[in-house]
Amino acid sequence: MSTAREIPGWKHVYSGKVRDLYRPADGGDEMLVVASDRVSAFDHVLEPGIPDKGELLTALSAWWFDQLAGADGGPAIPHHLAGREAPAEVAGRAMVVRALDMLPIECVVRGFLTGSGWAEYRESGTVCGIVLPEGLEDGDRLPEPIYTPAYKAPLGEHDENISFARSVELVGAERAAELRDASLAIYQRAEAIATAKGLVLADTKFEFGVDDEGVLRLADEVLTSDSSRYWDLEAWENGETPAERMASFDKQIVRDWLAAHWDRQGTPPALPDEIVERTAQRYRELLDRVTR
Ligand code: ATP
Ligand code: MG
Repeated sequence: MSTAREIPGWKHVYSGKVRDLYRPADGGDEMLVVASDRVSAFDHVLEPGIPDKGELLTALSAWWFDQLAGADGGPAIPHHLAGREAPAEVAGRAMVVRALDMLPIECVVRGFLTGSGWAEYRESGTVCGIVLPEGLEDGDRLPEPIYTPAYKAPLGEHDENISFARSVELVGAERAAELRDASLAIYQRAEAIATAKGLVLADTKFEFGVDDEGVLRLADEVLTSDSSRYWDLEAWENGETPAERMASFDKQIVRDWLAAHWDRQGTPPALPDEIVERTAQRYRELLDRVTR
């Protein structure tokens, strides 16, 4: 399945659904994260890939890491970038990072109600067990952002929503609180930036790891259209139907097409050209709007 290529000086060690990981051939403690054009939905990697997706997401992630390192005037958040250029073979689609001890928690923050959160709310009035006010609609802004962690399942298994109490069992009370507080703070800061650019940052997912000095660092990709839901702010304010309000810059286009054309049994069907092209275009447009 992996399309990981040979890169002189680096040894391929792992391929996730989207990224290929390498370690220095000489045993150094950095890591090379190469973003492919693979797209995943409902935990399956789909065919074909989205042209230039790896470059677009790497550029978006790099821009956000820079903002969160203090370029927006806020406090510098420790992150995993090693500050060294990626090898020429993968220039533009790779980051050299510190290899961290990753915490097995996907730190999800939701500022708006949609997706699996909306589905749970309709059933029970809660999102990941958190009780919300009555009368909310799909796409509505929540009274305040909520932290809804998920357990990062080993490869091939589905991630599982967990309570904050369960996250305490997994990583200890102090780290669990640190993850929650950092995630909410980063989301709030990023949401303000997104709003200023005419975008809604509906929700997002962070991953953190610990370096060899015990410092918690923001890792993985950050605030990309794979890890976040972005909508057009004007459409959200003026749209009448959920589809109009949530004019999406992320892979919701792919999820929606797949949900309508696949019963989630066996291998998913190939994406039609039109869906691939529309998704690529929206990814490009998001990068332009965020970074301009
Ligand atoms: P899975 O690993 O379950 O396939 P995924 O599909 O999200 O999940 P990718 O995003 O394709 O995987 O691959 C990136 C992998 O690299 C993730 O497992 C992520 O946790 C890991 N990772 C990201 N940053 C670091 C880091 N600084 N140190 C170690 N691992 C990292
Ligand atoms: Mg990932």
